[in-house]
Amino acid sequence: MLSLPLLLLLWGVGSHGFPAAPLKMQEDAEQTVQQYLEKYYDLKSDGEQIGRNRKSSLMVDKLKQMQEFFGLKVTEKPDAETLAVMKQARCGVPDMAPFVLTEGNPRWEHTNLTYRIENYTPDLSRADVDHAIRKAFQLWSAVTPLTFSKVSEGQADILISFVRGDHGDNSRFDGPGGILAHAFQPGPRIGGDVHFDEDETWTKDFRDYNLYHVAAHELGHSLGLSHSTDIGALMFPNYFFSGDIQLSQDDIDGIQTIYGRSENPNQPMGPQTPKVCDSKLTFDAITTIRGEVMFLKDRFYIRVSYYYPEPELNFITTFWPNLPNGLQAAYEFADRDEVRFFKGNKFWAVQGQQMLPGYPKDIYSSFGFPRSVKNIDAAVFEEETGKTYFFVADKIWRYDEYQQSMDAGYPKQIAANFPGIGNKVDAVFQKDGFLYFFRGTRQYKFDPKTKRILTLQKANSWFNCRRN
Ligand SMILES: [Zn+2]
Ligand SMILES: [Zn+2]
Repeated sequence: MLSLPLLLLLWGVGSHGFPAAPLKMQEDAEQTVQQYLEKYYDLKSDGEQIGRNRKSSLMVDKLKQMQEFFGLKVTEKPDAETLAVMKQARCGVPDMAPFVLTEGNPRWEHTNLTYRIENYTPDLSRADVDHAIRKAFQLWSAVTPLTFSKVSEGQADILISFVRGDHGDNSRFDGPGGILAHAFQPGPRIGGDVHFDEDETWTKDFRDYNLYHVAAHELGHSLGLSHSTDIGALMFPNYFFSGDIQLSQDDIDGIQTIYGRSENPNQPMGPQTPKVCDSKLTFDAITTIRGEVMFLKDRFYIRVSYYYPEPELNFITTFWPNLPNGLQAAYEFADRDEVRFFKGNKFWAVQGQQMLPGYPKDIYSSFGFPRSVKNIDAAVFEEETGKTYFFVADKIWRYDEYQQSMDAGYPKQIAANFPGIGNKVDAVFQKDGFLYFFRGTRQYKFDPKTKRILTLQKANSWFNCRRN
């Protein structure tokens, strides 16, 4: 089996590449950390009055807060992972405390709010800017009693502008990257206003930085929300584009705590971010990848690796921008260093973080499934035999990776090859010669040699949770 290190782009929050870079504390690392903590964690930089020891203990304190906020391993040191997160593009509003609501709970006292776009970015047409801003407001009006009307002149509650560098509000922008935008909490004058950094390139697609996405986040501040620690929430401070821009349930809960629900009889629900230590956690698909294990759930992966004991949660699109959400099966064909992902009758293939060209392909012409098979529940490649098992409802299909054909005699009942694991499988992977089958919140460790179940555990037992 190939065990190449995964070389991953360091742009998703907390997603780390391999091998772990030797911890080189550059001269500027300390400065990076200090500036970051001053900007976002209220570290006071009055070096003269505070002795060096006192200062460094304050810094350790703030660093710990930051690591907790981002769900990083709390090392109280500016390790490589922490520095990587600090270098990501983000919102300029401080994180301060891990509460959804801004301190003091500022809110608008009227519900019919107005906004005015004071100037436009040259990066996009005016119509595109208007459209992005209007859609961003609609996200919030859909779940609250608030309404937003655009005015073209005069007073408005929320003023929106594109500015650069020092722009007169004591919170200067920093050129391309880094801080993308900021917004002020509800209140008179500058309250509620949104400033976008004109030194960024604004887009209406996946390229950095999508205006609709950033506007939707900033308007959350304009309405009274602070940053969320939920990586799936729009109010998470760091930018990364996950394809679909929507309020998560965390965003909805936050804004409804301030303003209540909309009058809409159909209350919109948002996607929830999986919690790794939730004993009710279930999975869509699981695969090994170059010695690690990746658990897939909705838009997210949870990655368990030998090098990092803490499971890493992030968007699947962080690695593979073209994969859809809600994948249903995945397996690693280690001989070719390939991982294949399935949804419906389509599948995609990747090598490390590279998406292979020519996909998606359909499962009929590639594997020889009959048209009656509409989707695959789970799949696993068995190294010893060169066979891949596909689980479809209560049946298994066996595919020979070297002959590139389905084996005769299949499909069979699952119990014929894997007795005891039940008649349906959500996900399966192979590790160290054992098969791990998942169904709901249960996990069966299966020995293919003796065809026996060795243990029965909670599905999330791989995540180092204190109690399962
Ligand atoms: Zn923000
Ligand atoms: Zn500003």
